[in-house]
Amino acid sequence: MPELPEVEVTRRSFAQAIEGARVLRVFLGKPLRWPLGCELDTLVGRVVVSVRRRGKYLLLDLDQGLVLLHLGMSGSLRFMPAELPPGPHDHFDLVTTAGVLRLNDPRRFGAVVYAASEQAPTACKLLGRLGMEPLSDDFCWSDFQAGLRGSRASVKQVLMAGRLVVGVGNIYASEALFLAGIRPTTSAARIGAVRARRLYEAIRQVMARAVERGGSTLRNFSSADGSVGHFQSEAHVYGREGVPCHTCGTLVRMVRQGQRSSYFCPRCQRT
Ligand SMILES: [Zn+2]
Repeated sequence: MPELPEVEVTRRSFAQAIEGARVLRVFLGKPLRWPLGCELDTLVGRVVVSVRRRGKYLLLDLDQGLVLLHLGMSGSLRFMPAELPPGPHDHFDLVTTAGVLRLNDPRRFGAVVYAASEQAPTACKLLGRLGMEPLSDDFCWSDFQAGLRGSRASVKQVLMAGRLVVGVGNIYASEALFLAGIRPTTSAARIGAVRARRLYEAIRQVMARAVERGGSTLRNFSSADGSVGHFQSEAHVYGREGVPCHTCGTLVRMVRQGQRSSYFCPRCQRT
């Protein structure tokens, strides 16, 4: 599944190329997760002003309205200089004066949704409950600390829920908690200021590094089999059950938390 770093890497791969381009034509294939929410004609003639990201959504700002794109479980975007006939899993083309933005999505959990503005109900429904952006200046330390303090769930589950901070998926949560020396099962509310600060810094570090490395699964982005990627190959604990910790040599352990595997070093992450 494409995680936030992959979505950010995708954004950077075409944002500059498409900015300023005018939409010539739109192709819609089989239905995606949600309907487009406008006639195709609404998009034709519009200019792509910028490409932003919010959580795992890409926001194509047009000179009127915006398009929200989500890659779902298996989606990938390509920006091609010229139009090629769509394959069986190509379900959306935005044909512009600069090239063609194409969504390939075999499982069709992805989405392309038009909204008249970011304040429109469709956009609010999708973006309104997202937590802070870990890679932006909006990632506020005091809000983060307050969010942990006010939560009774385990710290790993709080991170992964996406309400406090977005995009900290399983691998990133596991790695950030390792760097901060915090056990994944620890109650978020019981983490003191010093440790919370370490975790905050670790999240920034892990997410930035993941983007730098092109995400965890990008190599297999289109096949979406989620196997070893660039970031994962340098993981300290994630996927390393029974293997010695890089720091202390203790065997890494795995526990199940809310259907997900959590990995930790019992010595480096005592509590
Ligand atoms: Zn260790």
